Amino acid sequence: MNPLDDADPLAGYRDLFVASPGVVAYLDGNSLGRPLAASVERLTAFARDEWGGRLIRGWDEGWMDLPLTLGDELGRVALGAAEGQVAVADSTTVLLYKLVRAALDARPGRTEIVLDRDNFPTDRYVVEGIAADRGLTVRWIDTDAAGGVTPDLVAMRVGPDTALTVFSSVAYRSGYLADVERITAITHAAGALSLWDLCHSAGVVPTELDAWGVDLAVGCGYKYLNGGPGAPAFLYVRRELQESLRQPIQGWMGSRAPFEMGQGYAPAPGIRGSLSGTPPIVAMQPMRDMIALLGEVGIDAVRAKSEALTSYAVELVDEVLPEARMSSPRDPARRGGHVTIDHPRFAELMPELWRRGVIPDFRRPSGIRLGMSPLSTSFAEVDLAVHTIRELLA
Ligand SMILES: *Cc1c(COP(=O)(O)O)cnc(C)c1O
Repeated sequence: MNPLDDADPLAGYRDLFVASPGVVAYLDGNSLGRPLAASVERLTAFARDEWGGRLIRGWDEGWMDLPLTLGDELGRVALGAAEGQVAVADSTTVLLYKLVRAALDARPGRTEIVLDRDNFPTDRYVVEGIAADRGLTVRWIDTDAAGGVTPDLVAMRVGPDTALTVFSSVAYRSGYLADVERITAITHAAGALSLWDLCHSAGVVPTELDAWGVDLAVGCGYKYLNGGPGAPAFLYVRRELQESLRQPIQGWMGSRAPFEMGQGYAPAPGIRGSLSGTPPIVAMQPMRDMIALLGEVGIDAVRAKSEALTSYAVELVDEVLPEARMSSPRDPARRGGHVTIDHPRFAELMPELWRRGVIPDFRRPSGIRLGMSPLSTSFAEVDLAVHTIRELLA
């Protein structure tokens, strides 16, 4: 047993997750979180009692509201968002599309969208597609490989033509944690709206969307929220903007009165208007358990362990793998929940690592990403992973 695990007040929570035979170090919870045992039970019970037992009546008994009630819970536990501003729906990609379009319509006459070249591919592709459709310009920010989007870089790119800025709160490769509050303020000073992608921070980095003045945000359900493969995503629309923004995928579930089946679309008031089609109720079930658990533990305690885990990873890499390049910030305050290291031979190690049950992920061209999900990752796993990489490199 690693002494850091002995001293870890959250160590006991690891037992709540489903065992994965043969996996000795799972360092990919930032890509796909482990299932909670409670979620296995919940899925079974849902199929039997709610779907099977209630059948179509389930829609009147909570399913209709689940995208919003679960969104409220997520907002309270992890996002610093008061009720009525978060909904669970669609995928991050689709929600990005909806919110980018809505934001551009709210800034007519402005012709530029600012984002960074190291943003996640889907964010870039969505923005590029919409810009091409509308004849707008994408203004790119180039960032440091081990860093990310800083207030200074943003201040140099935004101006009177900027309609929208789109950044990730935690960079998917470097793990750089952006100063969301300051960058949002800089965006606002230019008269633009801010859209934050929280995929790599939701459930691991404390976030205060209301207090920081964020306009719009999206994020994943299957990373640190442990919703399972393809779990729905979430979006945040600041209350003051809900009346004026209009998302473009007009569907019956976001309309004022879905079951009147009427002519002509009128959006539902509030955050419900951000929905489009029938919500993925089955796929929302596992996230309920992880959000409840995060609420019980508290996001600040989760962050404290996250910083301890990533700091331990950085120390071990320095000591055991000096030839690897550290491609993440060394300052824990500027780092999310993962650490990326690069070495030209890492690509060839991956099959053997996976064969031995050591599972980090790989990011081209040469990065191993060590993702640590605080409630399910032990210090011993981090130690084992770094030492196994050492052994295979030798
Ligand atoms: C994982 C991730 C996504 C994924 O989007 P999907 O629509 O769920 O495939 C988007 N953006 C960021 C920053 C991510 O880390």
